[in-house]
Amino acid sequence: MAQECVLIVEPSRTLATLLERSIHGKLGMLTETAYTYKDAADLLSVAPDRFYVALVDVDLSDADQGDVVDLVTGHGVPCMVLTHQENKGLRRKLFSRNIIDYWIKEYSGNYEYVVQAIEQLTRNHEHKVLIVDDSRGFRRLVSLLLSRKRYDVLEADHGGDALNILAKHPDIRLVITDYEMPEVNGFELTHRIRMLYDKSRVGVIGLSSSEEDGISARFLKIGANDFLKKPFEVEEFYCRISQNLEMLDLFHQIKTASNTDFLTQLFNRKYFFEVAPAMLKRALYAEQTMAVAMIDIDFFKKINDVYGHDGGDVALVETAQRIKAKFRPQDVVARFGGEEFCVLFGPIEMASAKRKLEELCEEMRTLDIPFRNKTIRLTLSVGLRLAVSEDLDQEISLADKLLYDAKHSGRDQVIVSS
Ligand code: GH3
Ligand code: MG
Ligand code: MG
Ligand code: MG
Repeated sequence: MAQECVLIVEPSRTLATLLERSIHGKLGMLTETAYTYKDAADLLSVAPDRFYVALVDVDLSDADQGDVVDLVTGHGVPCMVLTHQENKGLRRKLFSRNIIDYWIKEYSGNYEYVVQAIEQLTRNHEHKVLIVDDSRGFRRLVSLLLSRKRYDVLEADHGGDALNILAKHPDIRLVITDYEMPEVNGFELTHRIRMLYDKSRVGVIGLSSSEEDGISARFLKIGANDFLKKPFEVEEFYCRISQNLEMLDLFHQIKTASNTDFLTQLFNRKYFFEVAPAMLKRALYAEQTMAVAMIDIDFFKKINDVYGHDGGDVALVETAQRIKAKFRPQDVVARFGGEEFCVLFGPIEMASAKRKLEELCEEMRTLDIPFRNKTIRLTLSVGLRLAVSEDLDQEISLADKLLYDAKHSGRDQVIVSS
C-alpha cells in the first residue's frame, strides 16, 4: 500500500492515543494526529495524499461543527467521523458532505469497529463492482460513492453492455443494477447473470425508483441478492454493499475450504470428483487425448518412523507443492489421501505426460527437504494411462494397478499402460 498513514483529528489526547495504538498495533499502519482544526490544516497542507483515510471528530474548539470534514475531503482524503452525538440530522448532513462512515463514541466496542472499518477499507480495492444504469448522472453518483470507499468500480449504461463487461472481467464480484433500462432491463439482466453465475459467485443488487408493485420481491425471486429503493440514504447504501460483499467473501471462503486439503492446500478428493468426470467427458467427446496418473510417495511410513509425523508432514507439503508446480492450470491435481495424489491431465499426448512425470520423479529424487537440521529424501512411484472411457473410477483404478506395478518392480519410476 502506497499510503499507509491514517490522519486522526481528535481533541481528546487519551482517545487519540488509544486510536493510534490500536491502528498501529492491529493494522500496522502509521498515524498522524491533529488535536485542533488548525493542526489538521497544517498536516494536510503538505502532501495530503500520504493519508489513506482520516478519522475525525466533527466538534473542534477552533472551527464550526463539521468544517473539518470539508477540509479533509477537500484534500481528497476519505473521511470517517467519530463523534459524541447520536443526531440524525447531523448524520445525514455529514453523509451529504461526502463522509464514508460515522461512528458514535459512547457505544462500547466502537473503537474496535472503527479499526475494523479501516481494515475493510484497505481491502476494498480487491472487490470489483459493476454499476448498470441508463442514467449517466445516477451512475456517476453511485460510482463516486463507491470510489470514495476505494472499491474497484466499472460502469455499464445498459444490460447488454453489462453482460459484455462481465464476460471481459470474470473477477467482478458484485453487480448493482437499475430496473428500467432500454433493451435489457434489470430483471432480464439479473436472469441472464443467474444463468451464468450462481449467487455466491456474482452478487446482484437491484435498484429502482419505480412505484410499480412488487419490484423488490421480483428482483429477489429472479436471483438478486438484495434490493434498494432509489433514492437511498448513503449510509444504508454503504452498509448494504459491504454486507453483501462480506457474505460473498464468506461463501467463497467456505467453498474454498471445502474443496481444499488442509495440509497441502491441493484440491481434495471430493473436489476432484466434482470437476473431473465432466472434464473427461467433454474431452473425449471432442476426441482429445486425456491421461490420468496416480502418484504415491515410496516408503513414506519409514519417513514418519525416522523423522516423526511432523517430518512426514513437511515432506508431504513439499512434495505436494512440487507436484502442483509441475502441472498446468488445465490439469486437476488432488491429494487423494495419505501420501497419494491423482492428476487428471487436460488434453495431452501420452509422451508429453510421461515426460512430465519422469521429470517430477527426477526432481523429487534429487531434492533435499530440510527438516530440523536434517534432510529428508524421498522418491515417487507413478502409474499413468491414457483415459479411453468416460468411466473415471475405472480409469483411476487402472492407473492404480500400474502404480502397484511400479511399486513391485523397484519403485521410483513411471509405469505406463502398454
Ligand atoms: P509404499 O512405498 O509401498 O507406498 O510404502 P509406504 O510406506 O509409502 O505406504 P503405506 O501405505 O504403507 O504407508 C503410508 C503412510 O502414510 C501411513 C500413514 O501413517 C502415513 N500418512 C498418511 N497420511 C499422513 C499425513 O497426513 N501425515 C503424515 N505425516 N503421515 C501420513
Ligand atoms: Mg433507468
Ligand atoms: Mg507410499
Ligand atoms: Mg499409499
